Amino acid sequence: MNQKYSIFKNVLEVTEEGLWIIDNNRKTTYVNSALCKMLDYSFDEFIGKTPSDFVDDKNKAIFQEQLSKINITNHKTYSVELQAKDGKNIPTIFVATTVYDQNNQLSYSFAMVTDMREINAIKEALYEANEKLKISENLIRTILDTQENLVVVTDGKKIIHGNSAFLNFFNLASLEELVQTECLCIWFALKPSLYKKDYKCNNWLKEIEESGWRVDGIGKDGKMHNFIVVSNPYPNQDGMYVVTFNDITKLQAEKEFFVHLASTDTLTSLHNRAKLNEMLDFMVKKSSRYTDIPFCAIMYDVDYFKKVNDIHGHLTGDFVLKELSLLISKNIRTSDFIARYGGEEFIILLSNTNLEYAIEVTEKLRSLVEKTTFKNLKITCSFGIYQFAQGDSVSSIIDNVDKLLYKAKQNGRNRIEY
Ligand code: GH3
Ligand code: MG
Ligand code: MG
Repeated sequence: MNQKYSIFKNVLEVTEEGLWIIDNNRKTTYVNSALCKMLDYSFDEFIGKTPSDFVDDKNKAIFQEQLSKINITNHKTYSVELQAKDGKNIPTIFVATTVYDQNNQLSYSFAMVTDMREINAIKEALYEANEKLKISENLIRTILDTQENLVVVTDGKKIIHGNSAFLNFFNLASLEELVQTECLCIWFALKPSLYKKDYKCNNWLKEIEESGWRVDGIGKDGKMHNFIVVSNPYPNQDGMYVVTFNDITKLQAEKEFFVHLASTDTLTSLHNRAKLNEMLDFMVKKSSRYTDIPFCAIMYDVDYFKKVNDIHGHLTGDFVLKELSLLISKNIRTSDFIARYGGEEFIILLSNTNLEYAIEVTEKLRSLVEKTTFKNLKITCSFGIYQFAQGDSVSSIIDNVDKLLYKAKQNGRNRIEY
């Protein structure tokens, strides 16, 4: 071995890269152990041979091509497959450098040879993992996009992904438009006070939690929708969440409709007896606790209503009941409560009202009914008024006011008893 190589020999022998030195006739003068190991030839088997002796025909062409460029640059990196002793091709990166003497004559060349098998295997594994990730991401995306619920993936501040339902609800043209949104607060009323177009919170997911996982949002239909929000941690991603907005507007409306239905009388649209009991119970409790809050119950019944049905028919009777209900409703305060107790009997609850004022109100109503004509028909009503007294219950109030109404009937009808 030439003297000039020997000083580097120790270094060259410990490196994992293969090193190949050839003279100006392209004959090998030195290879390090790493290269011997890589191709499974002994040092002596290399000496005197050219690198082209260690490649197949295809790779020989690569060496030829590089050789043709030898004067253009003295430092070249290229991929070439070297053939090991067992005939197997080993992918390598060849970094060849040419060295010239003082007369500018090619003195020798050396090449650093990197075995690419391991790196290629890692690359392939990475590629495969990436492909798998793409497939599972697509799968997740497809699952999310088939959801009717609005779904976003977020860290509570930024939005990483939103499904088609989300984009569609807010009429967003693309996912980019959603992802660029600084804060979800611009769309959702987390709390009524926060629903401002320019409001930006620190962590909207936290704010939703504080709002009891209920938010409202205006969709592209221009209507306010109510949502129940569910947040789940994103698998294997710390601090990331899959947040689902479940539109309960329809359910809510249905619920309200059924609640209304359950508390309303179908013929007159007044409150029904169930709602009356609920309201009366509330007022009894309130006045029992706050003894200075009086209230009165008025029970009234149409006089000789049987005759209306008998003479004019049941449908006319119905019409009269509806018109009478409308008339009385219009002539009491909005804070008062009116219900159909049954048949042609009704109850009014006057909140914050003492007997004296209740008598005044009732007299106005009695006179109003007497003066009104219902489809050419004249009717009158009899009234009982009872003021809540400490110790009264729902049933004692009904009982007392019913007795007073009965008394009004007994005493000649179209009159008030209290
Ligand atoms: P009084 O002055 O003593 O109250 O006499 P009245 O005829 O009104 O009393 P009665 O209890 O004898 O008759 C009540 C009538 O009200 C009988 C019933 O057919 C009628 N009625 C009850 N509910 C309805 C209803 O929803 N529609 C119609 N058209 N009539 C009803
Ligand atoms: Mg009657
Ligand atoms: Mg009756």
